[in-house]
Amino acid sequence: MNQSFSTDDLSFLTENYKEITEKIAAAAVSSGRNPSDVRLMAVTKTVSPAHINHMISLGVGLIGENKVQELLGKLEFLTTEKTDIHIIGHLQSNKVRKIINTVSMIQSVDSISLIDEISRQAVNNNKTMDILLEVNIDSEDSKTGLPAESLIETAFRAADTKGIVLKGLMSIPPICEDEKTARMYFEKTRRLYEDMKSALGKRADISVLSMGMSSDFEAAILEGSNLVRVGSSLFGARRY
Ligand SMILES: *Cc1c(COP(=O)(O)O)cnc(C)c1O
Repeated sequence: MNQSFSTDDLSFLTENYKEITEKIAAAAVSSGRNPSDVRLMAVTKTVSPAHINHMISLGVGLIGENKVQELLGKLEFLTTEKTDIHIIGHLQSNKVRKIINTVSMIQSVDSISLIDEISRQAVNNNKTMDILLEVNIDSEDSKTGLPAESLIETAFRAADTKGIVLKGLMSIPPICEDEKTARMYFEKTRRLYEDMKSALGKRADISVLSMGMSSDFEAAILEGSNLVRVGSSLFGARRY
């Protein structure tokens, strides 16, 4: 991994960070909330530790990685003492053990068997793990995520499982041509989030709605998102 970078790269990251945080703040205010009500996650897949560390030094308090292997490979080079790390990609049950003491939340929980394995590892390590359920908002598409129909049932199961702290919902809507369609998906997700919250009542402290990425985070915030996951608009286009 290339860890050296020029001064040009630094100012580029600084400018991106400034621009994104300003847009988040404006969208939050437009939706009747405070800028601090919306949390920014820097999505760091394919990004070098040097770039990630610079983004952290600018004030990003949360990073997200998709793959366990990639996260663990970078970890020793990261200055994450004051930074939360979340898993946001599809997680295989046999990898849970490897990250149970590294991440503070798993956002991409999409099956009962994964809930059970996170529970087992959390209990073994004497801790609890925050999770979000990932909902597949566009069931036509064959992407990951729970079907909306089984969301509430799975939420009850998660809320009643030892070692698991259910915090909310995450979704990745299909790529949309226009903002209107994107907002429709975000609105649908927010309704599911509210249904889940009221169904669970006091059984869980549902407070996180994770939706919105580089191309659509403002639309997501206008529809109620309080955690946006931004990669390429912060770090530049990914080079795989
Ligand atoms: C890559 C990724 C993002 C960020 O995507 P950008 O379009 O680069 O902002 C957000 N969420 C998930 C789950 C991702 O895999």
